[in-house]
Amino acid sequence: MTITYRLGDSLYVNMTNRCSNRCDFCIRNYGDGIGGSGDLWLDREPTVDETVQDILKNVSGCKELVFCGYGEPLMRLDDVIAVIKAVKPKIGIPVRINTNGQADLIHGRQTAKELAGLVDTVSISLNAPNAKEYEALCHSDYGEKAFDAILKYAADCKKYIPNVVFSVVDVMDKEDIEKCRKIAEDIGVIFRVREMIK
Ligand code: SF4
Repeated sequence: MTITYRLGDSLYVNMTNRCSNRCDFCIRNYGDGIGGSGDLWLDREPTVDETVQDILKNVSGCKELVFCGYGEPLMRLDDVIAVIKAVKPKIGIPVRINTNGQADLIHGRQTAKELAGLVDTVSISLNAPNAKEYEALCHSDYGEKAFDAILKYAADCKKYIPNVVFSVVDVMDKEDIEKCRKIAEDIGVIFRVREMIK
């Protein structure tokens, strides 16, 4: 079971394969892992303690800890928080969460404040400039209402997290990328165009 894997200077944490989306571009449609990660499909989800031990064993020399998964990490919000609380005082490096931004819909409550003081960066995949296009591309369990919830989540995160990023993949057409940039600017979060990984 691959709980953590290294990409560049970062240690990535894989706590779940579950996700509330089924994105057309998801890397999981194309393989079993990323770079030299090994197989990221989990037979079962690792416990909090297993994840903590794996991070502490492998984090040496890393400059950032990233909860990413081969799935949506905040499906396990409470467990992710428990892991960060256990490791953060020991590792001395920033913590990032890569998320689809649907945690509030998944858990039925406003969750951003629960990450305050624990997470340095929340990177949210925006991926489309409006609800219709988002749903056509990402097929959320929550349908078109996912999009507005993501915008609200980003605005909420801005109150509690030092760095909040909206990201899009570089295969989007230029006009849509600029619309997404404007959405990020209006909310006041960082905008990043990331390379699509296949
Ligand atoms: S949100 Fe991420 S993990 Fe989930 S389907 Fe989309 S790309 Fe894959």
